[in-house]
Amino acid sequence: MASAIFRVQSHKFSQDNIQTTLVCSKCDEVFSKEFLIDLEGQTIEFKCPVCGAPGEADLPYKSAEEREEFEEDFEEVEEEEGGEEFEEEY
Ligand SMILES: [Zn+2]
Repeated sequence: MASAIFRVQSHKFSQDNIQTTLVCSKCDEVFSKEFLIDLEGQTIEFKCPVCGAPGEADLPYKSAEEREEFEEDFEEVEEEEGGEEFEEEY
């Protein structure tokens, strides 16, 4: 049985995976993890990379808008600096 809940704090769909920022309900730590795009909308069980507690996360679905945005993004492929996206929100 899962004992922790990993809340999805933010997520972003890329070409073939879902990049999520999750919060562990056990240790309260924020971590990021990538999932295969095929897993969208599913409940995934895994262990917290911080405290090792088993838990589960509900992955988001890609919305219609996100699909469209993604297709547009795909046409104009640019190298983006992703470094500043994960500013701490404390
Ligand atoms: Zn944890």
